[in-house]
Amino acid sequence: MSECIFCRIGAGEIPSQLVYQDPAIIAFRDIHPQAPTHILIMPRKHIASLAELKTGDLPMVARMLAVANQIAQEQGLADGYRLVINTGSKAGQVVMHLHMHLLGGKQFSN
Ligand code: 5GP
Ligand code: ZN
Repeated sequence: MSECIFCRIGAGEIPSQLVYQDPAIIAFRDIHPQAPTHILIMPRKHIASLAELKTGDLPMVARMLAVANQIAQEQGLADGYRLVINTGSKAGQVVMHLHMHLLGGKQFSN
C-alpha cells in the first residue's frame, strides 16, 4: 500500500468527493477549501512535484490544464478562476504528489 495519500485517493483507497476521473487524471474537492470552489486535479501516476516532471509527462500536464478548464466551465466559473501549483516545501507544497488547485467563486485581489 502506498504511503502517498494522493496515490491512495487515486486508487480509491481513501474516499474523496470526485468531480472528474479518467484513466490518467482525477479531480476531487479539497478537504479544506480556500475558496467557494476548491478542486484538486492530479495524475493518478505518482510524480512528486512539477520539479520532477519528465518530458514524457508533458502531454498529461496539458490534459490536466484542459480538464481544469472543463471543470471550471461545468462549475460555473466561466467568469474567472485561478490555477495554482505549489512546487516544493518553500512554496507551501505539503502533499508531495503533483496537483493543481482550481480556485474560484470569489474575487481574488492579487
Ligand atoms: P499543497 O499545499 O500540497 O499544494 O496542497 C495540498 C492540499 O491537499 C491542501 O489544500 C489540503 O487541504 C488538501 N488535502 C490534504 N489531504 C487531503 C485529503 O485527504 N483529501 C482531500 N480531499 N484533500 C486533502
Ligand atoms: Zn502519490
